[in-house]
Amino acid sequence: MNDLEDLYREIILDHYKNPRNQGELPVPPAAVEEGYNPLCGDEIKVYVQVDGDKLSAITTTGQGCSISRSSASLLTQAVKGRPLEEVHAIVEQFRQIMGVNTDPDLIPLSDRELGELAALKGVVKFPVRIKCALLSWNTFEAALAKVTTV
Ligand code: ZN
Repeated sequence: MNDLEDLYREIILDHYKNPRNQGELPVPPAAVEEGYNPLCGDEIKVYVQVDGDKLSAITTTGQGCSISRSSASLLTQAVKGRPLEEVHAIVEQFRQIMGVNTDPDLIPLSDRELGELAALKGVVKFPVRIKCALLSWNTFEAALAKVTTV
């Protein structure tokens, strides 16, 4: 156990106990998608709203384990208010961290560039947890596809 792992555990716990961007958005103009991880029982709804080329709002509701809930909170924090191009790049980076990115040209971000998202890096050591961490991200992409043409 080292200091970095302690810090990462604290970040995950903080986002689990105090999840960011919780709640619903009016549909429309927002879009919503539901996700379920039967392996763990994690459930989520992701609400997204796009204005122009920007993800103007994202919220989630749901229940599940600490990894799925903190990952959802970290996701909303990482993408909210950003241009869609950056949003897609962040999703690809997260897939890379979880070992499910198939793009060989992707240049991984440093921990510093990842910010608090780096806290989820340790999840990849526990394959059964990867689905927990990815649930909100996959659901988010499905929701986003409903309101964008990209
Ligand atoms: Zn889970």
